Amino acid sequence: MAYVSAKDMMVDAKQRKYAVGHFNLNNMESIRAYLLAAQDMRSPIILGVSGGTAQYMGGYRSIVGAVKPFIDHLAITVPVALHVDHGSYEQVLEAIDAGFSSVMFDGSSLPFEENLRKTEELVKICQKKGISLECEVGGIGGEEDGVVRMGEFADPEQCHRIGLLGIDMLAAGIGNIHGKYPADWPGLRFDLLEEISRVTGDLPLVLHGGSQIPEDMLVHSIALGICKINVNTECQIAFTEAVREYIEQGKDRIGSGYTPRALLAPGLEASKRVAMDKMMLFGSAGKA
Ligand SMILES: [Zn+2]
Repeated sequence: MAYVSAKDMMVDAKQRKYAVGHFNLNNMESIRAYLLAAQDMRSPIILGVSGGTAQYMGGYRSIVGAVKPFIDHLAITVPVALHVDHGSYEQVLEAIDAGFSSVMFDGSSLPFEENLRKTEELVKICQKKGISLECEVGGIGGEEDGVVRMGEFADPEQCHRIGLLGIDMLAAGIGNIHGKYPADWPGLRFDLLEEISRVTGDLPLVLHGGSQIPEDMLVHSIALGICKINVNTECQIAFTEAVREYIEQGKDRIGSGYTPRALLAPGLEASKRVAMDKMMLFGSAGKA
């Protein structure tokens, strides 16, 4: 069965020092693009769903209902995890109920003790159901679903404590940002990543905001324990640029080029290509 939790992917990625790409769903085209990218590259994949996407696509149940049959329809054999991205405690419970195989509880804006307490409760629920759980400490800079946060850095002591609870992966801010990076961005803090890696031992670490981080920094972060990299902005830009080109070339006015499937096909191909490039770069290609 290709529909799995991210637990085994993360354990394998940590052991063999590669990272699994997390690609955010935005619409139907993104489901098709990323499933085909993973299959073509023989790579495991994590499909991420933000609260905004869940609202747009009819709720968590609707997304599970779309992704699972799609995996069968496309004869996908590589492992696919369907993952809540930055979920609240309530959203995570709702998604688990709807059949998600993996969840991220983002308690990073809560007081740390409350983050710990809720994480502990979710560990029990997730372990019982065989669902993988990602948690977050500290803040990650940038914008997600309209919320802008300044770049923050995780506290290694907090990483250590949350890591003891039995979670499957940990997102920790090391200077990464959601969305577009400013021109004066100082880069990832590898000294901090090294320290977090050291205090969390075997725990797979997650890098959010993976779009537009220079390739050598991504490769270096994988060597230091990053096992999951979230990519969204870069795929979205590639999608939109390809559709823009299609319209600018007047292809929508030729024959049946006006159909939404024809219009969005170049976007689908472009975002699929970005995902495949990332799988090569992250080292997950050929691992499934
Ligand atoms: Zn994120």
